[in-house]
Amino acid sequence: MTKHRHNDDEEHHHELAAAGTGAGDYVPGYFEMLEMTIGELLVEKGLIAAGEIRRQIEVLDSRTPALGAKVVARAWTDPAFKARLLVDGRAACEELGISFYDDTALIVLENTDTVHNLIVCTLCSCYPRPVLGLPPDWYKLKPYRARAVYEPRTVLAEFGTIIPDDVEVRVSDSTAQVRFLVLPKRPKGSENFNEEELAAVVTRDAMIGVVPVEIR
Ligand code: FE
Repeated sequence: MTKHRHNDDEEHHHELAAAGTGAGDYVPGYFEMLEMTIGELLVEKGLIAAGEIRRQIEVLDSRTPALGAKVVARAWTDPAFKARLLVDGRAACEELGISFYDDTALIVLENTDTVHNLIVCTLCSCYPRPVLGLPPDWYKLKPYRARAVYEPRTVLAEFGTIIPDDVEVRVSDSTAQVRFLVLPKRPKGSENFNEEELAAVVTRDAMIGVVPVEIR
């Protein structure tokens, strides 16, 4: 770790760019350099321990929609758990061993015969990462972020989801502190499924609210 690493890298980057680098030459991008620099400064100033960023990345990488699916399947099979989940999503997830590594609250929104929930972050890409992992690219793009709010039924139709007129569509806008997870309707034909089989049919997109859970 050198003191002037940022400047050195930047010069290096410009040289390579000017020379028209061929395939195989690795040139860190602007944000990667920014990230390395800030990381080094945080360690240098004693604000975090070396390795802390890597450990946090490992925690993030360990999160996948399989965790959310486990929560949904439990809610479908255990009414008492479902009741607790709807009151305090975070505490109920923690019961299943899903830790929250940040200070976000989790509100679980139940889809019913009369209400269909859709989640969005109009500002950026806030997402229930502890239970779903990283958001899909379309979730972070402006068309979804804007249109989910002013024409949710059209957006849903583009995902192949037609919501009947007598079903209310509710759009919930995530924030840095409050994240949402959709509890989809249990699909017809799953009456004899056990919890594990149920979890296997729950998809990420169903927990965002853009599609129902279906048995294929
Ligand atoms: Fe956001």
